[in-house]
Amino acid sequence: MATLVTQILPGLPTIDEHHVDRRRYPDGVAFMDGQYVHMSEAKISVLDWGFLHSDATYDTVHVWNGRFFRLDLHLDRFFEGIKRLRMKQPYDRNKITLILNNCVALSGHRSAYVEMICTRGSSPMFSRDPRQAENRFIAFAVPFGSVANKDQLERGLHVAISDTVRIPPKSIDPTIKNYHWLDLVKGLFDAYDAGAETALIVNANGHIAEGPGFNVFVVKDGSLRTPAFGVLPGITRRTVFDLCAEIGLLATAADVSGAEIKAADEVFITSTAGGIMPVTRIDDTVIANGLVGPVSRRLMDLYWQKHDDPAWSTAVMYP
Ligand code: PLP
Repeated sequence: MATLVTQILPGLPTIDEHHVDRRRYPDGVAFMDGQYVHMSEAKISVLDWGFLHSDATYDTVHVWNGRFFRLDLHLDRFFEGIKRLRMKQPYDRNKITLILNNCVALSGHRSAYVEMICTRGSSPMFSRDPRQAENRFIAFAVPFGSVANKDQLERGLHVAISDTVRIPPKSIDPTIKNYHWLDLVKGLFDAYDAGAETALIVNANGHIAEGPGFNVFVVKDGSLRTPAFGVLPGITRRTVFDLCAEIGLLATAADVSGAEIKAADEVFITSTAGGIMPVTRIDDTVIANGLVGPVSRRLMDLYWQKHDDPAWSTAVMYP
C-alpha cells in the first residue's frame, strides 16, 4: 500500500511514497518536473546532457537547526552560473526559495543538505545543438552530510596532495559550480592509495588548488591564506573571510605551495558539507604539533554560532 505523506504545506501536492526503498535512497524530498517526490522517484532521462556531458550547474546550501545558512549567496552563485552557461529555467528567485523551503519542510529534516540543479536537459528532436535543449531544474533536500566525521573534526584530517592537475579555468570556469570531478575523484583514489582520508589537488602552476568539494586555508603567524587561482569561490571560504574581517584577522587569496602548506601553523578545509574542518597531517608531515589549532577552533565556533543569527541565516517554514 502506498503511504501518503500527510505532513505537507497547504496547497502542495502529496508525496506518494509507493516504491520507496529506504535501503537505497536517503530519506528526503526532491522537486522535479513541477512535482515534489520522494528521493527514490527523482530520476532523469539518460539522454539529459547533464548526465551525458556534465552539462549542468548546481549549488548546495545547508540547513542547520531549521535554518538555511547564507541562502542568498548560494542563490546568487546559482543564478550567475545559469546565466553564464546560457541556460533558462522557469523559476524566479522567490519561487526557487519556496521550492527549496518546501523540499526541506516536506522532508521534515531540521539539518539538511539542499541542492538546486539546472541541467542542459535534452532536445525533443535529439538535436546535438545545445540551443535546442530544454533545460531542467531539479532541487532536493536530504540529511546533512559532512566531509569530515566527528572523530576527524576532533583530531583533524589526514590529507594527501595528489599531483593531479585541477581542470584549468580556461577550459572550465571554476566560478560556475559544476560536476567536472574526474580530477578530484582521481585525487581521492590517490589519497586512499597513500593511506590518507581525503585529497588536495594542484593547479596548472603546481600550487595547491582545492579538494573534492572543499577549499583549503593555511594559517601562518596569525594570518590566513587560501588559493586564489583555479578554484571554486566557495561560500564557506567567503564566510571565513567575513569572520576574519569581524575578528580582525588578515585573510588573503594567493598562491599556496605544497611546501608552504606543510610548514603552516594550522590548516583547515571549508565546505557547505561540514563547514570549517581541521587538517592535522598532510602526506607524511604532521602540521605544527599535530593538534587542532586555536585559530581553526575559534573560526569553527564562530561559524556555527552564526547559524542562529538572522543576519546570516533564514528560518525554514515547516508546516
Ligand atoms: N570546491 C569545490 C570543487 C566544490 O565542489 C565545493 C563545494 O561543493 C567547494 C569548493 C566548497 O564550496 P562551498 O563552501 O560553497 O560549499
